[in-house]
Amino acid sequence: MAKYVYSFGTTGTDGDATMRNLLGGKGANLAEMANMKLPVPAGFTITTECCVEFLAEGGKFPAGLDKEIATALKKTEKAMGMKYGAADDPLLLSSRSGARQSMPGMMETVLNVGLCAKTIPGLIKKSGSERFVYDAYRRLITMYSDVVMEKAEDIEPAEGQGIRVQLEKLMNSVKKAKGYKSDTDLTAADLKTLCEQYKVKVKEVLGREFPDDAMEQLNGAISAVFKSWNGKRAVSYRRIEGLEDSWGTAVNVQSMVYGNMGDTSATGVAFSRNPATGENKFYGEWLINAQGEDVVAGIRTPSPLNEETKNEQNKHLDSLQKEWPQLYKELAGIRGDLEKHYTDMQDIEFTIQDGKLYMLQCRSGKRTGTAALNMAMDMLEEGLIDEKTAVMRVEPAQLDELLHPIIDPEAEKSVAEFVRGLPAGPGGACGEIVFTSSDAVAAQQAGTVCILVREETNPEDVEGMRAAEGILTARGGMTSHAALVARGWGKCCIVGAGDLEIDAAAGTMSIDGKAFKAGDVITLNGTKGFVYEGALKMMDATENPLFKKFMTMADKYRTMGVRTNADTPEDAKIARDFGAEGIGLFRTEHMFYGVGAEEPLFILRKMIHAGDDDERNAAIDELAPFVKRDIKDTLAAMDGLPVTVRLLDPPLHEFVPQSEEMLGELAKALKISVDEVKKRGADLHEVNPMMGHRGVRLGITYAHLTEMQIRAILEAASELKKEGKHPQPELMVPVTCTVKELDFVKPIFDRVKAQVAKASGVEMACLYGTMIEIPRAALCAARMAKTAEFFSFGTNDLTQMGFGFSRDDIGGFLNDYLSKGILDADPFQTIDQEGIGQLIEMSVQRGRAARPDLKVGICGEQGGDPASVTFCFKLGLNYVSCSPYRIPIARLAAAQAALAAE
Ligand code: ADP
Ligand code: MG
Ligand code: MG
Repeated sequence: MAKYVYSFGTTGTDGDATMRNLLGGKGANLAEMANMKLPVPAGFTITTECCVEFLAEGGKFPAGLDKEIATALKKTEKAMGMKYGAADDPLLLSSRSGARQSMPGMMETVLNVGLCAKTIPGLIKKSGSERFVYDAYRRLITMYSDVVMEKAEDIEPAEGQGIRVQLEKLMNSVKKAKGYKSDTDLTAADLKTLCEQYKVKVKEVLGREFPDDAMEQLNGAISAVFKSWNGKRAVSYRRIEGLEDSWGTAVNVQSMVYGNMGDTSATGVAFSRNPATGENKFYGEWLINAQGEDVVAGIRTPSPLNEETKNEQNKHLDSLQKEWPQLYKELAGIRGDLEKHYTDMQDIEFTIQDGKLYMLQCRSGKRTGTAALNMAMDMLEEGLIDEKTAVMRVEPAQLDELLHPIIDPEAEKSVAEFVRGLPAGPGGACGEIVFTSSDAVAAQQAGTVCILVREETNPEDVEGMRAAEGILTARGGMTSHAALVARGWGKCCIVGAGDLEIDAAAGTMSIDGKAFKAGDVITLNGTKGFVYEGALKMMDATENPLFKKFMTMADKYRTMGVRTNADTPEDAKIARDFGAEGIGLFRTEHMFYGVGAEEPLFILRKMIHAGDDDERNAAIDELAPFVKRDIKDTLAAMDGLPVTVRLLDPPLHEFVPQSEEMLGELAKALKISVDEVKKRGADLHEVNPMMGHRGVRLGITYAHLTEMQIRAILEAASELKKEGKHPQPELMVPVTCTVKELDFVKPIFDRVKAQVAKASGVEMACLYGTMIEIPRAALCAARMAKTAEFFSFGTNDLTQMGFGFSRDDIGGFLNDYLSKGILDADPFQTIDQEGIGQLIEMSVQRGRAARPDLKVGICGEQGGDPASVTFCFKLGLNYVSCSPYRIPIARLAAAQAALAAE
């Protein structure tokens, strides 16, 4: 039988940091810290496997668990020299969730478990403080009734009617009646009465007594933590983060230490380096006489850890360094030990009980993209990590944020902020104010960019935070939930703008008599923590030299190529600056769109509406110089690098004019009536154009069009070559489904190539290849490769035709499919490895079997998605091709894939 329970503490530790899948991140690290002989209160971890069994059995402890818990509890009691449930010097416990990947605030924790009529007097005697004991007791009743008796029982109270809120109301009314400012003003007698009121309320609201038995409390708290894995917030967080539902959470049962035992006790959280900027300074917040979530909940403004990291909000408060230098020194020492041990930035929870320091948690801290990059480069410099590790330290998707917009510093100079907060998530954001999470989601769906403004965010706001462009809160610190979550997503976020008065119900916020309402536009500078009225000009973050250095280092380990999808010389240039090693997809039709396209478009329309072959061929010849110029400019911009030019792809009907004026001009040029023009255009209409007369099918019907394009490519290249340049064109035939299509075009290609070589006196190399975007082409890859010298997977169409999902209509049901768990992700954003992936894998194998030096790439949207890049690497693709701004992401993802495979 599997072992369910692993102990940690001075009486023996069974686990370590490598066991995070089984023990969860928190449990594995508690064990690791215990192994490092750091002061960790003893306890035990019940495994994630046990959680999975517990949930599968409909919420029952698996056989044998009770016994293992009893044994582990004895060990814990021995380590602490106290007994759980004893009248004399009782041990209390916490029951803490912890999945293999951290999900901040998404699951539940219950503190002070074991306080009951039998143990209360003993704890009062031991601590000498009645106030402390009843403070702990009221916290237990609150957490337990909320987590165990309400949430775990799937009770869904009406908005604002949850038991936690109702109990907090009771406490606030006492505070108000007595004129107290802070929770710490409540006296022992106040708290004692309050606890009695709490228990009555619990019975009244939930219909059950708050349990007065220590063992019942413990079993209830363990079960509830297991169940919290399937809580609403946790499930929605996993959807967003793409975490597996099947993992389960571990439960950590740990001896309580008390940060709320009076003025020589405290609790705090810290980061071994600044998680927003990466700066190598010990950074954190703490509160005297407080417990657990007090620091992050924004109840009182937390104090700074040390003098050098004080800020606007807390500069008037004493730092731990100043208040208790000895304890600060000890903590700073542990910070150093942990960083050396884990060789990464650590996020730490600690508690001071009556002048003694305890460690309650450590984990690799969430960080912004900027911080990830800066820390990786710093730690490399410090010799803490090597180059390969540094490359692995930045998540490819996080680079996006480094390339993200900031407020134009010039625009920012000329205005004054109306409020300041803490810079919790960097970059700039500008949008309309919304005051609730659901409004943010609605705004996003309506295509409105919004800023979510909240008094403070709580984990229930996750989806709104996701939907908003930026987040602004009046309360909370750098380690508040809003800050943690925003940072994880690289989202612009300002917290603790304390001067703001927010009335979410009325939909207003105000400051110094100045009022804003929902829909008003504001701009955030998340790097400084400044908020401005109206819309400020934004700009792209200038490339910083550290970024360039990092990318160069990543390229050292990268083996797969990264190209770009670019249709213009301008895009090609941007892509080159971002490190593109060629163009994987140059769409020739782009020359017919947008400004400056009027002339070629008109000729194309003449061709489309031509009455016979002669007329059509004449129009095609008229078009030739434009096509050649377009290709030449792009080949020049990508000089020395390969450019895959795709033959005309879209159905011709897309280019049919609509305006009467244009129809008239066209009629004049073709010397026919407007009605005839309309008729010829209408004849091109197709019921299902995506699967209609397009791609190579056009090129076969109109062979002269194919010939003209091929000639344009080869002539453009030979002209450049004569000018001393190094063009590397590749010809790509789209929408093929049989090798016979390729075999039809190939002789034209060969003939034109010979002609151009003869005429120009320059022999041009040019690969001949095809897109693989129709499942039949993938199936027949061996044959396709007989003629094609390269394949480029057009994964947009391959996904469309492989799934039978219309690219243009999937929006109608995609959200249903995602929320109901039928699809794990949008297959148009990330390659469906299970299904479409097979088509790709098979094509590569069969294609290379037929032609060992077959070049293979991908040019669909997914080419810039990190998971898809990794997949392409595994299949042995020569390159991925993506839009210019995603090139750094693809480069890093490819480097990491290569390192992971070493
Ligand atoms: P989360 O995963 O949301 O951070 P935790 O399990 O870490 O939840 O617990 C919530 C809070 O309770 C934290 O501040 C933690 O430090 C505190 N806490 C948990 N266990 C104990 C304990 N045994 N003694 C004192 N404080 C504890
Ligand atoms: Mg924690
Ligand atoms: Mg296509």
